[in-house]
Amino acid sequence: MKTNMKTLVMIALLFASIMSVTSCQKESMNGENAQYASLLNVSGDGTTSVIEANLKSALVTTSALTDSELASLLKMKEEEKLARDVYTALYQKWGSTIFSNITSAESNHLNAIVLLLTTYNGDASIGAPGIFTNTEVQALYSKLVVEGSATLEEAYKTGALIEEMDINDLNACLSSAVNTNVTMVFENLVKGSRNHLRAFNRQLSTLGSVYTPIYLSQGVYDQIVDSSMEQGKQYRMNGNGQGNGKGQKGNGNQGTGTCAN
Ligand code: MN
Ligand code: MN
Repeated sequence: MKTNMKTLVMIALLFASIMSVTSCQKESMNGENAQYASLLNVSGDGTTSVIEANLKSALVTTSALTDSELASLLKMKEEEKLARDVYTALYQKWGSTIFSNITSAESNHLNAIVLLLTTYNGDASIGAPGIFTNTEVQALYSKLVVEGSATLEEAYKTGALIEEMDINDLNACLSSAVNTNVTMVFENLVKGSRNHLRAFNRQLSTLGSVYTPIYLSQGVYDQIVDSSMEQGKQYRMNGNGQGNGKGQKGNGNQGTGTCAN
């Protein structure tokens, strides 16, 4: 009995030391008491919003944006606003909870872009609801509100269309962006759009309706809707541990810098 206890204690100590070695390695790799958190909040219905405090904390110091990065932020500002304003109109028409939930998330996505535009001295202004700077986006808004107002099924299809367009455009923006903060925001927004696409597809399936993608290939669309909701990746919270006075926080943000996914 005594021997058994001793063995158990030994095992426990061994386990504890392995655990502490592992966590030490992680800490020494990433600086003093580095803390990590996701930038995304994913609800059961797939609604995915950006946690603004975590985004602010994850931002790193960078040089100015290139013209193309700035242009991509302005383009995505309009698209996030388009999503928010179309879903607002469709919620008013149909009263379906998914539209009010996703509307809040889109408002959140818009704020994430605005935060970057403010950081890099871009045009952070947002026009009145339903009013857009880009004439093509303005025309698209009117068209989508009309189409989505026909039936609830058309409303969900309109949601799917906006999300697949966002995925396509965000991926294109990601392929040219280099700035760490810009790619971090776009990577999280595209994850949100894939979750929203899954959410609208789920609503359509419930109605027995099948959506045919326009912007994405059928293969890519199927791959997205047949996989589960995605959670956010962990980012270093630079806002934490400040004042330790040791080392450079620098550009050591983990997991960013690639535009591949
Ligand atoms: Mn969005
Ligand atoms: Mn969305």
